[in-house]
Formats: sequence, structure tokens, C-alpha cells
Amino acid sequence: MHTESSKINVLPLSVIEKIAAGEVVERPASVLKELIENSIDAGATRIDTFIEDAGFSLIKITDNGSGMSSDNLARCLLRHATSKIRSADDLFAISSMGFRGEALASVAAVSKISVSSCDSADGVGCSISSEGGEHREIIPAQHIKGTTISVRELFFNVPARKKFMKSHRAERLAIIRMVEQMVIPFPGIHFTLTIDGTRIFEIPAVQTPVDRIASVAGTEFAKTLIECESDQEGISVTAYVSSPEGLQKRPRFQSLYVNLRRIDNDSVTYGIREAFSNYLGHGNRPSFFCFLDIDPAKIDVNVHPTKQQVKFDDDRKTAGFIYRAVKRGIESSCMTTDQFSTDQKEPRQVHPIHGSASGGAVEADDAAQTILAFPAKEVDEKNVDQQTQSSIQLKSSEKEELWDLIPCYQIHGIFILAQIKKGILLIDQHAAHERVLYEQALNDLENGNSPSQQLLFPVLLEVSPTEKAVVESGAAYFQGFGFELSDFGGGTVSVSAIPAFLKNGLVEETVRSMIRYLLDGRNPDSFNQPAKRFAAAFACGAAIKAGQKLGQEEMNALLNSLFSTKNPYTCPHGRPTLIRLSLEELTRRFLR
Ligand code: ADP
Ligand code: MG
Repeated sequence: MHTESSKINVLPLSVIEKIAAGEVVERPASVLKELIENSIDAGATRIDTFIEDAGFSLIKITDNGSGMSSDNLARCLLRHATSKIRSADDLFAISSMGFRGEALASVAAVSKISVSSCDSADGVGCSISSEGGEHREIIPAQHIKGTTISVRELFFNVPARKKFMKSHRAERLAIIRMVEQMVIPFPGIHFTLTIDGTRIFEIPAVQTPVDRIASVAGTEFAKTLIECESDQEGISVTAYVSSPEGLQKRPRFQSLYVNLRRIDNDSVTYGIREAFSNYLGHGNRPSFFCFLDIDPAKIDVNVHPTKQQVKFDDDRKTAGFIYRAVKRGIESSCMTTDQFSTDQKEPRQVHPIHGSASGGAVEADDAAQTILAFPAKEVDEKNVDQQTQSSIQLKSSEKEELWDLIPCYQIHGIFILAQIKKGILLIDQHAAHERVLYEQALNDLENGNSPSQQLLFPVLLEVSPTEKAVVESGAAYFQGFGFELSDFGGGTVSVSAIPAFLKNGLVEETVRSMIRYLLDGRNPDSFNQPAKRFAAAFACGAAIKAGQKLGQEEMNALLNSLFSTKNPYTCPHGRPTLIRLSLEELTRRFLR
């Protein structure tokens, strides 16, 4: 682009505005985030939001906050116009969500916006509008005390940006997730979110953050959380974290709030995770909601255009403070349930503060049944269908072992150690079971053996609004496999039919695991091998978990099933199911 004649031009204001807008206004969700922040700053106790066409046709917000005088309204769309700070010093004592005074200007530059507001009870207010940054005159308008902002045709004058947007589905999901995260520290504000006419959120004002977590993430889930607290000069933390039993590969929430602002900070996430180091196996991680209250002078919030990060005076010190608080919290919660236990060799049974003690037992039973179900079937097949059996290529000597007779030892509730003819095997019990279930499910699906079975009693699943939206948008995907899911009202989805091969007790885990797949932003329409995806999601949800005790027979049965699969060596995600150490290698290692 560098030519002889290139000369330096001073860009027209409209172009400068558009460039600046690019920083703040990444996508519809970021517009809505800025608007909600403004309503919170205005002291609103009720905030209603409306989205149409994933935010590209309309993003609208109404609040009952302070409203704006006509003078303020005239300025609110101008860049660097803010009522929240006056001087650079104020930057070190920011207690509001906004302060840069550029959100509305940025949004105005790339949309058709109208702002109506009234700052008194008389209902006589004003309205201002702008198209692509060209501001119109202020006109009188009726409005109750508060503000309504409508952003229409976002990016109408920046077609290039519009082209880069992800699918409408992804943008909708981003909006839902953003709102879900943002409302948590403000239990006193009533929020609603309506997308294309459907009320996605109706989150009433409640007393405490835990109540709010319950409305957003589900009452049952909120009950399992452990509360951790610590207070020091200039910094205090209240965190609600998973119980050690509730650790997951993909935790549903890992939310840090610094002075009520949702922030991403790797050191803190790492610190909280480390607090669980005694319980972490297998890449599991905790869910958490961590509210950090810190002297504004000790942080810099002005390091990121959309304020998603802050700079702490001392990152490690802050993370260490949170780490200790959470560790103490987990330990004391374990103490209260453990104090009567005498057998320290048993794996700790930890129960969350309010949770039910029987939660895990049902699942364990079901999983054990699943394992035991397989060998029986295979033995039958061996007798009945010799031909099919012999056509299976035995890839290695492992397949020839008589697994029923081999002594197995379970190690740390995660691995199985088995002696084989020429060495030893270490098997990952979860991965191995996943492989078994995966092939079984895939086989059933591909042979059309997966008719739908109606459940006598529908299984009810408590889901977060985000998960609910995922279930709705993925309806066809679930249906394709014989599931019948419907909205049960509130935060609940009802499962009334399941694929025939799926055991009743595994419905919840499987559906949740499928939701997680979809939540990862994967579009079910683009799955090239939907059956495989589904089978993998099912297997992942239904397989025995790390930490589950297995008896001798169960271990034998599992190995038996594993070595009857087509590919016993990896789980459906491609991770190894087993490690083999030959006698030769062991001998060599011991320098014999
Ligand atoms: P900032 O929030 O950083 O100050 P914005 O561009 O987001 O900048 O908003 C500019 C100004 O407009 C705010 O400082 C505030 O005075 C006013 N404003 C915006 N939204 C509202 C609202 N919903 N209610 C009252 N005032 C508002
Ligand atoms: Mg703002």
C-alpha cells in the first residue's frame, strides 16, 4: 500500500469514530453489556432488555434509574462524555461500572440509536437520536423516570465487521452468557431478557448473591456450593466454590468479580484451582463465583477497552490471598462432615454445606450396572454367534487374556492395575468405560437400534437459562437420537423420551454432557458425524467417574468389555485408555 504519492491524511471524524468503536463494540453482546452497565450506574432497580435478530436488528434496554436531564442527554452520545469522573485522579477511585465515556459514542457511530430519558417523576423527558454518529436535535418525549435506549441496525455502516460476525446462534448465546454472568453481583436488581419475543430471563430481585446464583445457575447447583470468606486491610473476598465432589472437566461457572465487575484473571483462576489440589484428578476443575472487594487504588481498571481485565498491584499476592481463603473454606467444610469418621484410609466423603448426602450413590449404582451388563451380553454372543466373533481381528495378545481370572487392583480410585502374561497394564477406568459405552452406543445408532422409548416418569433437569437456550436451539439434534425434551417452565427441562439403549439412571448425565458439547459453541448442523458425536457425549456422561470404587468383578468385567471393543486403546476423544509395561521393560528398569 506504500506508494510514491502516499501522503498523511488527517482522518475525518466519522472514520475516527468508527475505528474507536471497533474497540468497545465488538459484537452485539458487548453493546448490551455497556448499556446494562450504564443502567446499573444510574441506580436502576429494574432493567429490561430486548434483543431481536441476535442484536443486529435491535438491542433495547429500559431502566428505572436516575434518568438524564436534557443537558446530559445532549452530551451522552459525545465521545469522552461521562458523568462519572472529572479528573485523572478519579481514575484511581472508580466505583462505577463505566468511566471512559465512550461506550454510547462508540455504539452511536456504528448504529442507529435513540435515547429517551427523564430525570424527574413528572414524566416529561427528552429524546435524542443519531444515525451512524450524525446526531439529531433533542426533542421532548414522554418517559417515566429512567432511560430507554434502542440500538437498531448495528454495524449498518461497517459491512466488513458484520461479515466477521459468527452465526446468529453464536451471537445469541454470547448475549445470554454475558447477561447470566453480569447479573450475579446485583441481587437487588430485577433483570429480564427477551429474545425475539421469548422471555429468556426473568430474574427477580433477591436478598443475597447466593439467591441470585440460584436463580441463574439453578437451586440444586447453588446448594452444593461452599462459602469461603476472608477479610484483610484493603481487600476482602467471598467465594462460592464447588464441593470437591462437584469438580468437572468443564465447570459451568468460573466467575471472578472485582468490585462487582466481571473480570478474567488467570492467576486467580489458577489460585482457586490450586486450593483443590488434594482433590483434583484428571483435569477436573471447580466452578466458582468469587467476589473480590478491593481498594480501588490498588487496581487499575483502565487496562482493557471493555474493562474485562484489571491490573492488580500484585497479582500473586491477590491470587495467594484468594487461594488461602478458598482452601480454608473447603477444609472446614470437609471437617464438619468428616469429624466422626475414624477410618482415614478411606477416600474422604465430603458433603457440601447444604447438599444432600445421598447425591452420588444412585449414580454409582447405575454405572456399576452398566459395566456388568456388557460382559453378559458378550458371553452370549460368543456362544451364539461364533462366526461374528472370529471375524473380529484380534489385534494383540491383550485380547486373548482371560480377564475374569486376572487379579486387578484399583489405584487411587482412578486407575486399574492388572497383571498380564508378559507384563502389567495400567488402565484409566473412566477412559476405558467411555470406550466401551461409545462403541455400544454407536453400534446401536448405526444399526438403527435406537428407537425412542417413552419414559413413564419424565426426568426433570434443572438448567441455567443458557443451557435452556442451548436445548431449544439444539432440539433437532436431541430429537434425532430419540430424545424428547420440552420446557417444563422455570429453569427446568423435562425429558419424556430417550434413546432405547440409554439406561434410565443415566439420562441426566447424558443430556448434560450433550448440552456441554453444544455449549462449546459447536453447531450441531455442522457435525459431520453426528452419531459419533452423540455417542461420545453419551459415553462421557455415562462412564464411571474417577474416584468411584470398583469391586474385583466390576474391574474384570470392565476389562473384558474393553478388550471386546474395536479399538480398546483410546477413548472416543483419542486419549489413551491404557499403558502397558512389559516384563522386559520392568526388568530393564530395575537393572536386573
Ligand atoms: P460512561 O459510562 O463511561 O460514563 P457512556 O458512554 O457509557 O460512558 O455513557 C455516557 C454518560 O451517559 C454516562 O456517564 C451517564 O451520565 C449517561 N448515561 C448513559 N446511560 C445512562 C442511563 N441508562 N441512565 C442515566 N444516565 C446514563
Ligand atoms: Mg458506560
